[in-house]
Amino acid sequence: MSESIKTVCPYCGVGCGLTVSPPAGTGRSTHRDGEGNPIWKTIGDKSHPSSQGMVCVKGATITESIDKSRLKYPMIRDSLSEPFRRVSWDEAFNKIVDRIQFVRQNYGADGICMYGSGQFQTEDYYIAQKLLKGCLGINNFDANSRLCMSSAVAGYMQSFGSDGPPCCYEDLELTDCAFLIGTNTAECHPIVFNRLRKYHKKHQHVKMIVVDPRCTKTAEVADLHLAIKPGTDIDLLNGIAHLLMRWNAIDTLFMDECTKGFPAYAEVIRHYPPETVARRCGIRIDHLEQAARYWADSERVLSLWSMGMNQSSEGTAKVRTLINLHLMTGNVGKPGTGPFSLTGQPNAMGGREAGGLAHILPGYRTVKNPQHRAEIEQFWGLNPGQISPIPGRDAWNQIVGLETGEVGLLWIAATNPAVSMPDLVRTKAALLKSPFTVYQDAYYPTETSAYAHILLPAAQWGEKTGTMTNSERVVTFCPQFRSPPGEARPDWEIFAEVGRRLGFTREFNFANATAVHTEFTQITRGRLCDMTGISHEKLAEFGPIQWPCPDTALLQEDESTSRMGIFSFLFSHRDKDKNITHIGKRLYTNLRFKTNDGRAIFAAYHSKGLAEPPNNEYPFVLTVGRLYGHWHTQTRTGRIEKIVKMHPHPFMEIHPRDAAKLKIAEGDLVELRSRRGKARFPAKITKAIAPHTVFVPMHWGALWSNDAEANLLTHHEACPTSLQPELKACAVQILAV
Ligand code: SF4
Repeated sequence: MSESIKTVCPYCGVGCGLTVSPPAGTGRSTHRDGEGNPIWKTIGDKSHPSSQGMVCVKGATITESIDKSRLKYPMIRDSLSEPFRRVSWDEAFNKIVDRIQFVRQNYGADGICMYGSGQFQTEDYYIAQKLLKGCLGINNFDANSRLCMSSAVAGYMQSFGSDGPPCCYEDLELTDCAFLIGTNTAECHPIVFNRLRKYHKKHQHVKMIVVDPRCTKTAEVADLHLAIKPGTDIDLLNGIAHLLMRWNAIDTLFMDECTKGFPAYAEVIRHYPPETVARRCGIRIDHLEQAARYWADSERVLSLWSMGMNQSSEGTAKVRTLINLHLMTGNVGKPGTGPFSLTGQPNAMGGREAGGLAHILPGYRTVKNPQHRAEIEQFWGLNPGQISPIPGRDAWNQIVGLETGEVGLLWIAATNPAVSMPDLVRTKAALLKSPFTVYQDAYYPTETSAYAHILLPAAQWGEKTGTMTNSERVVTFCPQFRSPPGEARPDWEIFAEVGRRLGFTREFNFANATAVHTEFTQITRGRLCDMTGISHEKLAEFGPIQWPCPDTALLQEDESTSRMGIFSFLFSHRDKDKNITHIGKRLYTNLRFKTNDGRAIFAAYHSKGLAEPPNNEYPFVLTVGRLYGHWHTQTRTGRIEKIVKMHPHPFMEIHPRDAAKLKIAEGDLVELRSRRGKARFPAKITKAIAPHTVFVPMHWGALWSNDAEANLLTHHEACPTSLQPELKACAVQILAV
């Protein structure tokens, strides 16, 4: 191939467009990686609507990782103590099919689990759902998105009646006030931050508030940084609401016309006067008042959040309490406003569309809804009742199923739970107990491959054709531009072949990924995420497309790909007689949400705080997070020289006052201990972290470090609604080594 191709970055949910060109030069002049492989050139795609040519270091260096340490052939071993031996695909498939049949007979359907990934393309996700939830009748498919944004999903569903972020990136450049809570956007979603930062710098009236216990790169440029104590987000949000009520800075017209439940919420926020909130959050009263003043004085407020809100034992309550602020001030449905969840993985959104969590079905449907199940059963040609009405095992409950012996087959694909799951001591012990683990991945070794009985080599980004959806609902075509190494195959093809060998030949009769995508888009017809107007061909010809995008005349009439069209289509039952293109009260008094009566719902939550607060024995709160250059468990970025130089080793941030008290000097090796495990890190003394709190990056697993695994310390206590674990905070003690 000699021409450059357009695709999307396979790291974070910003979904930047990339232009990839074949290796330049010939013979010895070709640019090569450390293993002698020719490197493809990557630059930002200026025509991509989401990123406009910008990329961060991860996107710019992605091609340097794609040839290193690849798993090329299926491998099998009978026990974890034996070495792997290479086998044919035929032998590997037969072994898996035999095991599925054995587990169905001896454990029951619940004994089969699959743990997938936001790294999947939508086509991979879709075929996995059809295999497990449809043909096998098991909802035990969960993904690493459970650890990432399931609280955002639950919050949107409960407050607005549906999942689906109501904002788009253009809102970053149309707001008067950006409220960033629980997100280090500068490092974790760099290109979103670039857009916001440029706009903020250029427009003096625009305010940026950052809420984070750390003074991150994001907080450094804010007009106001609120370094709240971990776990006090709801106190803060209710405290801002209290002041807005006191000042009568609320939009009663919007609330009367478009919402319900405000009285119960008003009763809750009555208990959050500034003095109480400032004390609980550990911030100054005038800073709290300033934050509320920015909300009150800004015509348009946009909130951004990610893991700091979602990874919490009260994650759904936090998200809904943030949405409350938007509802009480009428900051939704207008350009430059709204609650905007930034997704972590590149295709977490595609996973939501394809039903890639244990409680949902394709097309923004839920397994508990009988009509939704019937629609999918009919579409897939299944018998009525074939899809189970019971949500399957979420990520942590798959681990519990291994502990109790109820899970007889765990199939892990495109993710690395031996680093990323909470409470790694328990997770690893459970993985050791697994009677049969299939691990399907592009790389070998990883920390998780040590726990596998079968390794299946997967084609990765650039080696298969498919689509990905980013945080602002923009779908980008990702064409294959190179051959997979050895015998690696696309994930969807592997799932489909297992389906055919189980006897579902009609169900998995797909010629290629385009055929898979065509079937998938049809299942979204008439749904909120209607993508029937999107196809591989259209994406290849016209470039990225934002959903909703139905294939009817409605697309042109309603301008569904513009923001206003999205808002009205996304959350309202459109009234064609009214002029909804007018921005202002006339528009948003018409807003109808996807709840039964069209009204958004206020939530009334008191703050519960951390699941594991500090005490005398474990006096510090540990918070974990990401660094600019690395991606999650370093499966790719740990193999890129430039990024390794940027972040050579793990560390623990500690405030100078705490360091002095514990007689810790810069660079000293310290041991962190929680109730579950221990890990060691060199100390980094900095005022960027609040006293009584320490921070460690989450990227280092057993392959890349000596005892610096952050998740040896974290716990699995989760939000009861979203089942997302509280990876962000646990209690620790610090010992000098
Ligand atoms: Fe890739 Fe995210 Fe960086 Fe964009 S911001 S280049 S999507 S890692």
